[in-house]
This record gives sequence, structure tokens and C-alpha cells, in this order.
Amino acid sequence: MIEIKHTLCPSCSVGCGINVILEDEEIVGTFPYKRHPINEGKNCSNGRSSIENIEDKLAFDLKDFDEVAGKLKSCDAEKVTVVFSGNNSNEDLQAIKSLCESKGFNVLAYADNLKGFDSVASYDEVEAASNLFVIGNVLYENPLIGRRIVRAKANGAKIYVNDDLENSPTANIADEFTSGSVKEFLQNNDFDEESIIVFNKVDSFEDLDLLEGANSKLLPVYSKSNAKGALNLAEAISKEDALELLNNTEILLVFNDDIVNEFEFDFKSISQVIAFAPSKNDTTEIADIAIPIKSWLECDGSFTNAEGLTQEFSSVRESENMSIVEIIDKINGELE
Ligand code: SF4
Repeated sequence: MIEIKHTLCPSCSVGCGINVILEDEEIVGTFPYKRHPINEGKNCSNGRSSIENIEDKLAFDLKDFDEVAGKLKSCDAEKVTVVFSGNNSNEDLQAIKSLCESKGFNVLAYADNLKGFDSVASYDEVEAASNLFVIGNVLYENPLIGRRIVRAKANGAKIYVNDDLENSPTANIADEFTSGSVKEFLQNNDFDEESIIVFNKVDSFEDLDLLEGANSKLLPVYSKSNAKGALNLAEAISKEDALELLNNTEILLVFNDDIVNEFEFDFKSISQVIAFAPSKNDTTEIADIAIPIKSWLECDGSFTNAEGLTQEFSSVRESENMSIVEIIDKINGELE
């Protein structure tokens, strides 16, 4: 029997809806969620392929799980670091935060070297802007925001782009293009209250202060679906601080993240890397313990997108694995 179920795209922070096609309860494909207000019937190729990446399953081993609490008990809390990933739902992150607070573990909330901002521009404001300043290849990496930028240009907006790539889709729609540093771009342009700066990268954490001082509305677009939700719950740290924290870590708990792909760091130097993930990735490959968990497709929850809209999603299929909330309940029980 063929069924269509709605969920959210997990592949960036734009917050598009996506439809999952199931045949006899097996996922066989996706197609865009036509009435969804964010993407209005479109998904980019990353969104369309989002389900392919979770079918490479980890094997469940209860013995491995039983070792986790023992290892945590034998380590100073200040040497335990927990990756606070924007891949997780708000409900999962709340459970992870409570665990860290009650046990005194470090929180590693890293989000593309960006941070959370109290007030951000909406997607409608981007579309209606008269001056749009774009940092990074947003049209390629976050196409359903890119679509709003293209519409703004069609409405007469002037588009200023700063990026490394001169022939990217984003550079190609620019009225003015520069490839210098983000700092120079921010210092050399005049921003006013009618301007909006859309960015998915900076060169350094210090650039974020310049962005905040720019007298414009800002729209940071993160690479992970719920990075905005994560940064509502925990303060972002810079790449340098994240590396320092990793250097001082003896046990690294990774919930649904592939941190090994984000940092040039010798993760083998950490005594124990314990990864909880719905499928194999580079982090589970180097982990001392890797435990399978439900993916977002098998959970109810919510993601908060780049413009701050919190959207709920429901499970589209069953899984015998535990969710992050269930895992943390179990860890809490064993640490008491
Ligand atoms: S723009 Fe982002 S959220 Fe939308 S379909 Fe593409 S990857 Fe998914």
C-alpha cells in the first residue's frame, strides 16, 4: 500500500516541508509538500535526498549501552562534553540540556561559527527588502531562501554579495560582488534600517559583533535544521573555543551529529567517543561506542527554523530503537 506522510526537511535551517512516500511501510521516495508555506511546493536536491542518508543503519547492541553509564560515572563531569547539535528536535535538546545541567557536563553548541540572535528578519521581509546584502553562497546552499532573494531582485531590490566563489548562483545574481573578507564587506558598505543581511557563514566569530552593529535586520541561515532552536537553549561557541573544549575532553557524547566532519581535530585523542546516531557516519566509524537511535522520521517533535518559526512534525514510521529522550531517561536512571 502506498502512503504519503508530511514531515520537515532535516537538511538545513530554512524549514521546508517535505512529503515522504511509503510503500508497505518502507520509505521509497520524497516529493515536495505543495501547500507548505515556507517552500510552496519546492524542495532542493539536498531536501529530496535527505532520507537516503539515514538508511545505512547501525546494529543495536544492548551491551554497549550498558557500558555508557559506567564510563560516565568514572570520569570527572568537567571532562565530559556533550555535542548540542542542531540536527536534534527542541524536545531532544531540552532533554540533553537537562542532563548536562544536572550532571555538570560541558555543552558544545557549535553552529557554523555563527550564534543565535534575539531578533531576525522574516522570509517575507527578505522578499520585500530594497537592499539585500548576502554573505555566502546562499542560493546554492539554502535554495528556498535563495528563491526569496531572487524574488526580491525581481521586485527591484539591489543585491550585494560577498563570497569566495565568483561564478556561484549567488554571485551571478549580484548587482555588486566582492570576494574580500567579511570584515571588509561589513566595513565598506552602508547599511540602514531598510537593509537586510542574509548570511550562512562568517570568517571569524568577531564578525558577528560587526553584523550586530550594522544597523540592519539580520537573517543567519544555519546548515542544520534546528540550529536556531539549539541556540535558543544554549550559547554558541566559536570554532576556537570548541577546539579548546575538545582538547580538554575525556568523554565526548555525540547525539545525532557528525562532528568528525566539522573539525580538523584528532578525535582519537579523546579517551571515549560515544555516538548516538540513526545511521552510520564518520563519527560513528571512529566512536568507541556507537548506539543506534530513532531518526526524526520515527519521532514526534519540533524544529525552529532560521526565521524563528517553530514547526511540529510527527513520526512517519515505527522503529524499535530508542529516541534521544528515552536514552537520556535511561542514562539519568543509571547515574542516580
Ligand atoms: S532549502 Fe533547506 S530545508 Fe529547504 S528543501 Fe533545501 S535543504 Fe531542505
